[in-house]
Amino acid sequence: MADPNTMHVTPINDLIEHDTSGDSDCVCGPRTRPVEKNGGGMGWVVVHNSLDGRERYEGGGPS
Ligand SMILES: [Zn+2]
Repeated sequence: MADPNTMHVTPINDLIEHDTSGDSDCVCGPRTRPVEKNGGGMGWVVVHNSLDGRERYEGGGPS
């Protein structure tokens, strides 16, 4: 069962299929980092790594 507080960021058109149903249980070894949600409270973003050579990161934290 997916955690509603967890969001997944996956590379577009990657060579593999990422597992976005768990916390960070994916073959790419995603990084989990905390984020503050709009309505308050904390959530998690799981940043997946592409396996085709790219290192792609979404956002740069709060600015
Ligand atoms: Zn992944």
